[in-house]
Amino acid sequence: MPEDTIFSRIVRGEIPADVVHQDDLVTAFRDIQPLAPTHILIVPNRIIPTLADVSADDEAVLGRMLRVAADLAADEGVARNGYRVMINCREHGGQEVYHLHLHLLGGRPLGRMLIR
Ligand code: 5GP
Repeated sequence: MPEDTIFSRIVRGEIPADVVHQDDLVTAFRDIQPLAPTHILIVPNRIIPTLADVSADDEAVLGRMLRVAADLAADEGVARNGYRVMINCREHGGQEVYHLHLHLLGGRPLGRMLIR
């Protein structure tokens, strides 16, 4: 069993967060240091450390993460103009918290995917 993470403590309601969605598989809450007007993190309730650690058993939760992202983008009013979903994986991906999470970013033009 992976170690506890800051995000699993948010999932359990042990530390405060602006939670915008929770269901049997995933929890979504606003990033504490938002990089865009809408910046929401969507995490599996059960710890999966990185995208590199997923298995066939995780397909339902991965699908739920994307569907919740699309629903929240609509709720936030950013779906019409568009938005970005992003997963950072391990060191070269710039991952800081080792509890899989999808970033939903929107509310302003986000520019090109990466700076050359
Ligand atoms: P990563 O770089 O791992 O993809 O992204 C981690 C994200 O988690 C960062 O955008 C950071 O601001 C956010 N974050 C880190 N700790 C907390 C926290 O305690 N609460 C919330 N809401 N967001 C956090």
